[in-house]
Amino acid sequence: MREKMNVLDEDALKKYKRAGKILAETRKEMRRFVKVGMPIIEVCEKAENLIKEKGAKPAFPCNVSINEIAAHYTSPPNDQKIIPENSIVKIDLGAHIDGYLTDTALTLCFNSEYRNLAKTAEEALKKAVETIHAGMYISKLGTIIEEVITSRGFKPVSNLTGHLIGRYQVHAGKSLPNISHFSLSKIKAGEIYAIEPFVTFPNAAGKVRNGKEANIFRFVKRKSIKHPLAKKLLGYIQQNFHTLPFAERWLRKFTANDGYKQAFRELLSSRSIMQYPVFVEVSGKPVAQAEHTVLILEDRCVVLT
Ligand code: MN
Ligand code: MN
Repeated sequence: MREKMNVLDEDALKKYKRAGKILAETRKEMRRFVKVGMPIIEVCEKAENLIKEKGAKPAFPCNVSINEIAAHYTSPPNDQKIIPENSIVKIDLGAHIDGYLTDTALTLCFNSEYRNLAKTAEEALKKAVETIHAGMYISKLGTIIEEVITSRGFKPVSNLTGHLIGRYQVHAGKSLPNISHFSLSKIKAGEIYAIEPFVTFPNAAGKVRNGKEANIFRFVKRKSIKHPLAKKLLGYIQQNFHTLPFAERWLRKFTANDGYKQAFRELLSSRSIMQYPVFVEVSGKPVAQAEHTVLILEDRCVVLT
């Protein structure tokens, strides 16, 4: 396959494709695996282990976001929560090989009332995938996604967006809003995007706010750290996760140490690492999500996931 490529070399493209294939398989297996009553931590660990078994690494902790939680919930260590009855559950997955990452999501409905909501997110994604190409205005894509969602009687979540992907960067600067908006920014050939419509009910606010809980973190900057354990911890984080998000569950080799909690707090207060709070729909209404990672070509895209 010969494609005109601005920014990607052959090796990077090969790794993106492999990470995408692994993630697509994982998504399929997760659709069958998740059941009502299952501990959420079991869901997270299953997804992360599948990605590793298949030869990639998780690009971020598996997100399991339930009902009005739109995104960014992952299990903290020793999470006791379970998948509740009658819920709508977004499973958001990332895999990378040498930092070349892909990002995908699925929505599971354990109540038939949510089926059309989830179907609409899938349809909006499908339409976006069919139309996106190099030279397209990002604003045009937003209009198309919003049109699919509103024509089916639902509402897009206006402040959650798709995003450009970069090496070791889940969000590499450019955003893809799921609504009509003003922007002169264009899609370019060779770029990799995650497209992810979020959909809610028409009587919802259609926006998310930050929730109280935050179980996902990311390395920001090497700072001068006093606590020796904190210093060691930061080195481990930087070496293993680079600038990709991680979960506290992934720091198991440190958590038994005396002073671990204090060390972790110092990393947060010194802003060596940052945290991602959960996103909650403002009016408390359920949210559905669909997501693929795509490679942009001159006249179309290739779905990597
Ligand atoms: Mn995602
Ligand atoms: Mn994404």
